Amino acid sequence: MSPMDVVVMTPWGWDVNPDLEDMVAEALDKAGVPYCMWGGAVLRIYGSATTNIHFSGWVVPDRVLQQAVESLNDEGLDTCPFGSSCQSLSGHSVPLIVPDWHCHPDDDIAIESAPTPTLNVYKSSRLLWSLPDPPVGAPSVGDPDYMLASDPRIPEFKDPMSPWASRGRHDPDRYPIKIPTASKYAGSLIKLQCRDLAAPELGSWTSQVGCMCDIVNDVDENHVLRLEEIQEPFRHYMSYLSTELSMYDAPAISMGLLLAIRDELRASNELPPAEPSQFQKLLALTIRRLKNGVGKSLPYRPAESNGEPDGGSNGA
Ligand SMILES: [Zn+2]
Repeated sequence: MSPMDVVVMTPWGWDVNPDLEDMVAEALDKAGVPYCMWGGAVLRIYGSATTNIHFSGWVVPDRVLQQAVESLNDEGLDTCPFGSSCQSLSGHSVPLIVPDWHCHPDDDIAIESAPTPTLNVYKSSRLLWSLPDPPVGAPSVGDPDYMLASDPRIPEFKDPMSPWASRGRHDPDRYPIKIPTASKYAGSLIKLQCRDLAAPELGSWTSQVGCMCDIVNDVDENHVLRLEEIQEPFRHYMSYLSTELSMYDAPAISMGLLLAIRDELRASNELPPAEPSQFQKLLALTIRRLKNGVGKSLPYRPAESNGEPDGGSNGA
């Protein structure tokens, strides 16, 4: 990987340098890995003014996760040894969805001062389960699911802010990066809201849906997403959220609309079960460690466990 500032200071803190993202996209393409970008960077490419980025998100089909990781390792992006328990994944103003793999592009600011910018890879079954795999290479013209970040439907930002702070449509001279089409991204976010209605992650999805509503309402400046392009039942929900009415009675009515969508998705088997939250995962890990540790130290523990395999029994 050629020398570059892999992270950049923005008005809201450190972010992954978009130039590094171009190199990641190229590495994945070379390895034949279908991918699309995901998260705050995509919102900013659509023209959202969101400031909650601090990570570079990439989604790949589950079956090629390892292949994706190897291609990124080959580019010098080393796997974080702390995995999902890395403290850099916590402390974000909007809860970060724990990735299946992540690295710290800049080791100097990694770990010590969370949250630090990370490059995150996610399995598609967790975030974009209803979309087909992205193509390898550029999406075809009229692809309903994926587009390039240089697509002319995306607004160009010509303000004086730095490129990494403004985003918008990518310059066609940059390496082509795939993102979901805005209508499919909006629908996927609402499905995530329905899946995680009772989970802490709901705040992250709701925040992103709000950004998409702002784009819908920006009818004069931004044409990347029109209400009529969003499929039902999501259009009705976005339509409500995009009105001033939602500012007064959003908790009651918007939740009712979400519950109705959730029921519809469940009835058609389109909604996977909610993921265990990070808190639940840590709790389960702690309980397992306690059980193993206490069991080994107590002299009256039966010599043979009651059929439960003890994964740590071979350890020192
Ligand atoms: Zn880490």
